[in-house]
Amino acid sequence: MKRLLVLLALSVAVFAKETFVGHQVLRITAKNEAEIVLLKELSQLEHLELDFWREPIDESLPVDVRVPFHSLQPVRSFLAYNEIHYDIMIEDLQDLLDTEQQEMMSSRALQPRSTDDFNYASYHTLSEINSFIDALVQENPNLVSKIVIGQSYEGRPLNVLKFSTGANRPGIWIDTGIHSREWVTQASGTWFAKKIVTDYGRDAALTAILDSFDIFLEIVTNPDGFQFTHTSNRMWRKTRKPISGSLCVGVDPNRNWDAGFGGAGSSSSPCSETYRGPYAHSEPEVKAIVDFVKSHGNLKAFVSIHSYSQMLLYPYGYTKTPCKDQAELHEVAQRAVAALTSLYGTKYEYGSIINVIYQASGGTIDWTYNQGVKYSFTFELRDTGRYGFLLPANQIIPTAQETWLSLMVIMDHTKNNSY
Ligand SMILES: [Zn+2]
Repeated sequence: MKRLLVLLALSVAVFAKETFVGHQVLRITAKNEAEIVLLKELSQLEHLELDFWREPIDESLPVDVRVPFHSLQPVRSFLAYNEIHYDIMIEDLQDLLDTEQQEMMSSRALQPRSTDDFNYASYHTLSEINSFIDALVQENPNLVSKIVIGQSYEGRPLNVLKFSTGANRPGIWIDTGIHSREWVTQASGTWFAKKIVTDYGRDAALTAILDSFDIFLEIVTNPDGFQFTHTSNRMWRKTRKPISGSLCVGVDPNRNWDAGFGGAGSSSSPCSETYRGPYAHSEPEVKAIVDFVKSHGNLKAFVSIHSYSQMLLYPYGYTKTPCKDQAELHEVAQRAVAALTSLYGTKYEYGSIINVIYQASGGTIDWTYNQGVKYSFTFELRDTGRYGFLLPANQIIPTAQETWLSLMVIMDHTKNNSY
């Protein structure tokens, strides 16, 4: 009987997985402010259940939106009536998801015996990444350790890899996957971890960095959300903490930091994808990093990695006032982007968050910068919207490789300019 119940529960869980049959991703190109205002009004119509991959802000950036099948007709009519131009970027989202699943299944047939056999060109589940982390530590005990900086809302450990060759070193922080659906970021984080152990002692620049700095790498920064993207809803972005007084779940962990918290570019509505949360650092996944940064006390660089849009950004997002190191950060970003582009020609924009993307309050690197971590950067990895959050797995390694070149520029500059 008990077994039957377990089986039943399993099958319910399987059937509970959300499908996206007939969902399209539209790229909407507004030509003036009036059209942006109309798109903002469209985004307020909750019954349409639109998922803005890129929000309507101004005419400089196109708007990308996932439209459920039941809303396609009303949205198309709305756009046609108002003569707003759009292109269909993704014809049927479920087709891409099916391909992604098939690739993961075929990769899973080969169980890695070590991190050498791990398939870096495939997406992986949370438990696969956790096994990878443990294997990497086991294989490199003198270089790598795992520290647990806290627990997620659902009780998962918040694992951070620490790469260290000596005691009492200043630190460099890198995180991936704080937005759970940005799968190329966790996949790149996994590749970075292997790259660090491979290059230490072989690559002079990385060796010099690790001989004077510790590197901390949190690959799955939002594990509850990441698990949920695998089991229930591939498009999940936020944390998984329930909101009291609302049926909607989760907070945007990149609007939850105590830096301009509650300001423009974050939402007070629990159903919004940019819901900031009830108060700053309300999310355990954010609070754990806050506590770590404060207790470490000597981080010199902090890099938080997102996708998509191909951008390298520095503070601020919540205010137009330039940060006091703007000139230096801009120069570092310029060199980092040049290094990135040198590998495959991938084009990046760079600058402060508010200038390059839009006003966003309560963001990670504004907080770390205000805490004194001078070299605070955030990436938006590939692509520019052809696949958006569903970047094909064959782009994982090229994305990680090119991003690594820019991380090396940032880390090398940090090493040479921190005292
Ligand atoms: Zn993101």
